[in-house]
Amino acid sequence: MTAALALSNISKTFHTDNGEQVQALAPASLDIQQGEFVSIIGPSGCGKSTLFNIIGGMVMSDTGSVRVDGQSVTGTHKDIGMVFQEESTFPWRTVLDNVAFPLEVAGISRAEREEKARHFIQLVGLKGFEGRYPHQLSGGMRQRTSIARTLASEPRILLMDEPFGALDEQTRLLLGDKLLQICSELNQTTVLITHNITEAVQLSDKVVVMSYRPGTIKQVVDIDLPRPRGSELIATDEFGRYVGRIWEDLREEAARGMIATGEV
Ligand code: ADP
Ligand code: MG
Repeated sequence: MTAALALSNISKTFHTDNGEQVQALAPASLDIQQGEFVSIIGPSGCGKSTLFNIIGGMVMSDTGSVRVDGQSVTGTHKDIGMVFQEESTFPWRTVLDNVAFPLEVAGISRAEREEKARHFIQLVGLKGFEGRYPHQLSGGMRQRTSIARTLASEPRILLMDEPFGALDEQTRLLLGDKLLQICSELNQTTVLITHNITEAVQLSDKVVVMSYRPGTIKQVVDIDLPRPRGSELIATDEFGRYVGRIWEDLREEAARGMIATGEV
């Protein structure tokens, strides 16, 4: 079966202005199948955002390729929809106009794009808020607006870099539930970058654990928990065993990271 997203031998070394070289990613390969939800987890500085930017075509890798359904992609691409950690809604546009934005850029008529935008707004649970501006929403609602905007272009791959990173724990858990519901409704192939183990285990079919610099894939853990997975699953023993196993691996890498950055 051709993978929906295939990363082969992606690597990246940055050359800084003062002549230093930072090897951010050592060659990493990963296949993700249609409809799979995969989380990539790793300590701060291990190259997660670099990988995100390479998959999304914002940064060129030194080696390797990114393929969607077997086709090599370079540069930003309509098949790969990105959601960023930081606030990325347009403050001067309403929710409706934010979500309709990519459709406007694609030259779709007003009536058609508004209909589509309303569909995705409903999907993320923001029906009734179409006319609000971002500053009139909570942080979680703004992130849902960003997710709806990305989904509105119907990307083959939904690619997210710590989208809930700035939110409080309760909002994060509820948004996790929502995201699961959306992705299963759309059978959406999804790659979520996170440093939150609970989130990774709750949401994913597979958790990819990255090593500290140079980042590479240390382990891929299949999460064999029944779906649908509400946040109540977190209280079960089986869930705890997955968290424990991933933490074992991650602890080593996080410790290496802290030593390397002089934090311990
Ligand atoms: P993460 O998202 O896992 O925290 P990043 O991918 O942001 O990690 O960074 C990985 C490493 O690459 C870090 O050491 C970071 O300082 C370095 N790095 C990232 N982008 C650049 C860049 N544009 N120039 C130089 N170094 C960079
Ligand atoms: Mg990052």
